[in-house]
Order: sequence, then structure tokens, then C-alpha cells
Amino acid sequence: MIRTRFAPSPTGFLHVGGIRTALFAFLVARQAEGKFILRFEDTDKKREVAGSAEHLISSLKAIGIEYDEGPDIGGPYAPYIQSQRLDHYKQWAQKLIDAGRAYADPYTPEQVQQFREQSQAAKKAFLYRDYRPASPPKWDGTQPLRFKSEPKSYTYHDEVMGDFTTSPEVLDDIILIKSDGYPTYNFAHIIDDAEMQITHVIRGQEFISSMPNYLALYEALGLERPIFAHMPHIMNEQGNKKLGKRDGAKDVLDYIRGGYLPETMLSFIATMGWNDGTEQEVFTKDELIQKFSLAKVQRSGARFDEKRLLWMNGHFIRELSLDELADRAEYFWPEIAKKHPESYKKHVLALAQDRLKTLSDLPALTSYFFEEPAQNW
Ligand code: GLU
Repeated sequence: MIRTRFAPSPTGFLHVGGIRTALFAFLVARQAEGKFILRFEDTDKKREVAGSAEHLISSLKAIGIEYDEGPDIGGPYAPYIQSQRLDHYKQWAQKLIDAGRAYADPYTPEQVQQFREQSQAAKKAFLYRDYRPASPPKWDGTQPLRFKSEPKSYTYHDEVMGDFTTSPEVLDDIILIKSDGYPTYNFAHIIDDAEMQITHVIRGQEFISSMPNYLALYEALGLERPIFAHMPHIMNEQGNKKLGKRDGAKDVLDYIRGGYLPETMLSFIATMGWNDGTEQEVFTKDELIQKFSLAKVQRSGARFDEKRLLWMNGHFIRELSLDELADRAEYFWPEIAKKHPESYKKHVLALAQDRLKTLSDLPALTSYFFEEPAQNW
């Protein structure tokens, strides 16, 4: 049984990069008739943004990425919110302590900062383990709990990025549980993925550099590794830097409110860095479920092309039946159209359908059908 998950932190809105990760995980689960899980990773309380959890849920719903288990609907591995699973992390942490693979960090943040500066002065990469205390105190839950790493090389396969061999030098004594009692992402996601029986970890490429530490943790915890797939960054239109807010990394709900169809968003987002090996450019959701494969996700070069998005939206608008278009247009009519009968508005829509690029073009393209003729005395 294939089980994938999308595990956002409630720290803001969902932009196209985040949605793409969610969509790919969703497609992998759906095509195998598996399960797709939503989990909130809210263990960094300082970064949390009020309302963001609800916003993430509305965004997924608005574009039709349905999850089978999640914070608001429950499921066999509930709760799906990390801050409600603290006892799980404590239990696994205790196993590591008992096995001699985790210890209390006795230093203050200022002391750790001094170690960092010492390393910098010596022109060495900072590794906490170079300063590991010889006899750490017993962990009482108020100090950070650290992993006791052992230098070792690992190999792994990534479904998108290929084969890796990691170097032993990069392993470090990473923090598992912080002094505030919350686990780090590094520790919590491994526990949750294992307990929730996740088979494929699909996430952004920014986590690749931490893979050596994760592999060491799977090993020390005696957990089977899931399948890994790291998604390349989406680049701006010119392809010379990571997509930023100004070039379209905006809230996916803004696109929906701006008159883009959910169908467009799914097809557009899926085809940024993926195609099925044919010339096909536009895919319905069912086609995506059938045809998607991680093996065909490109390792780099996915670009956000706003003109292509607009073109694709025009395509999906033309594909709608008139009744369907009338339903979708509801919210976008100019004020003046509201006084006119549905049948007249449908006529107008039939005339405008081919020229609509977004539903929000509706007022500009149709208002002259509704204006009162000028009075000529
Ligand atoms: N909470 C992580 C993030 O928002 C998720 C990474 C993952 O999918 O494991 O970046």
C-alpha cells in the first residue's frame, strides 16, 4: 500500500512550489490507489503564522488535491499535527538515550555560538561534535537533546535526483528535541513518517544536504528507510534564479481569485519540470493520475512561465461546457450584468468564451453587452 504525505509548516501561504510537491505526492498515491496524507509540522512555534493552517487546507481544496487523512479529518494515525504528538517523539528519543545514541547538550546558546566562531577563526566548518561534552549531564527535558553521530558514509537512491554517496565528515550531533520541549523537523518527520507508514518521502531539494544525518537516524532508530524523491527548485522565467514572490511564487488562492481554473493550476504546476515523454502539453487531473511518474521529473530547469499559465487557462476555459462556464463565471460578472437574466448572460458568455484568458477578464470583455444605450435627444 503506497502512502505519501504533504507536510507543510503552518508558516504562511501555499505558493506554486509547495503545491507542486503536494501535487506530485498526491499523484503518486492516487495512481497506485494508495493514500495521501496531510500533516502539519508546527514544532517551530516562533515561525507559526495565525490562520495559516486553515489557509493551507483551503488552498489544497480549492485546486482539488484531496487528502485521505489529515488534521481536520483524522485517520488511523491521528493526530496529524506534530505539536500534538510530543509523547511519540519523547518515546523514540528515550530509545536513543538508552542505546547511548542521544545526550543532553549542557551548553548555553552563547557557548555554542563561541564554538561556531572558534571554528570560523580556524577556517573549519562548524561541527558541534567537535565540541561534544565528555560527560554530559542526565537529560531532564530542559536542555536540547542531541544525536550522538558516528562518522560513516551512506548510499541512497533518490527517485528524481539519482544515486548518492554521502561523506562521513558532514554528519553531526544534530538537535532532536529543543530546550522548549518541541522536536526539530529533522527528528520529528522521521518518527512521523515511520509511524504513519509513509512509503515515499517527496519534498523539496533543500533537504538533500541533511540526508546524511537522516540516514544515520533511520539506522540508529532501527527504522526502514522510505523511498526518497527530492523536487528541484522552480526557477523564474529567465531560469537564472529561484522563483521568488515577485515572479509568481504567490499564494495559489490569489490565482483562483484572479480567475484561473483549478484545472489549469493542476496541469500547469504538474508540467513545470515534468512531462510524460510525449508532446502533450496540457493534462486533465485524470490524465495526470494515469501518466505521472517521478522518474520523468527533470532534475533541474523547471521554469515558471506566466504567459504559459495564461495560455493554458484560456485552453481550459474553452474546454468548459457553457453551463459549466456559467457556474464558474458567477463570481466574476460586472455589477451591471447582475440585473440581466441568466439566459442573456449565457449568450454573452458563448460569445466571449474563446477570448477569455482568465475569468476576471469577464467585465472588460463583456460590459458593453450590458450598458444602457446612451440617450439621444
Ligand atoms: N515541514 C517541512 C517544510 O514545510 C516539510 C518537509 C517535508 O515534506 O518533509 O518544508
